[in-house]
Amino acid sequence: MNELRVENLHVAIGDQQIVRGLSLAVPRGEVHAVMGPNGSGKSTLAKVMAGHPDYHVTKGKITMDSEDLLALEPDDRARKGLFLAFQYPSEVPGVTIANFLRAALQSRLPEGEEMEATEYYAKLYEKMELLGMDRSFTSRAVNEGFSGGEKKRTEILQLAMLEPKYAVLDETDSGLDIDALKTVAHGVNSLRGSKIGILLITHYQRILNYIVPDHVHVMVQGRIVRSGGKELALELEERGYDWARAGADEPVLTR
Ligand code: ADP
Ligand code: MG
Repeated sequence: MNELRVENLHVAIGDQQIVRGLSLAVPRGEVHAVMGPNGSGKSTLAKVMAGHPDYHVTKGKITMDSEDLLALEPDDRARKGLFLAFQYPSEVPGVTIANFLRAALQSRLPEGEEMEATEYYAKLYEKMELLGMDRSFTSRAVNEGFSGGEKKRTEILQLAMLEPKYAVLDETDSGLDIDALKTVAHGVNSLRGSKIGILLITHYQRILNYIVPDHVHVMVQGRIVRSGGKELALELEERGYDWARAGADEPVLTR
């Protein structure tokens, strides 16, 4: 199956259980949103997928196209086509965006194969234009001194350049003004298609007006309490998370 699949996932940090029986599946070609209040474990899910050493999977599994994701080293997960954009992107002082992305792309090529510089820059500039980024950005250090909006655009630029099979975007909308949000959404929408599955993690419904999901999952206290179509996001906005939580002692699971 071509999907990113999470089955009955349990995650602990220290002796605290954060994710408690979470299941969902994102097929390639679809955009799924995970919505939930602060502290429900959304970023924990993203970090576990990335292979963060502090987060321990105590039960359940994650597969990518039927392969056991958790058995892979973080760099292998990326090489096999998983991309994660974090809620709080790291700064990489001294490494320019141009060199960083080039190294990332180069690392995916077979041994001895070189990337053409002219081809690389043509692609880079094309994607930057799409994201409304000035070319001068290429010579700036990754995220160093960037505004919130600039950091998020840089994350989406990485996504556009790396062309992964699955992308997990953790609160890519947080801290963006409406113009930056529209640009980021436009960037993500232009990357949508049959080759990629996108998991969009968000606290607010707002971004889903611009990136319309195929499926919405509501996460409360470490599990999915409701799943549905795009209208679920609007219903949630109207009725609040207490409504989603109520009567959802048994998780409502789809696929
Ligand atoms: P969300 O992204 O939905 O806001 P998080 O996954 O960031 O939620 O956090 C879920 C819970 O796990 C919170 O109670 C948070 O305090 C706790 N938590 C997250 N990361 C850590 C950590 N590194 N150490 C201790 N507790 C953590
Ligand atoms: Mg979070």
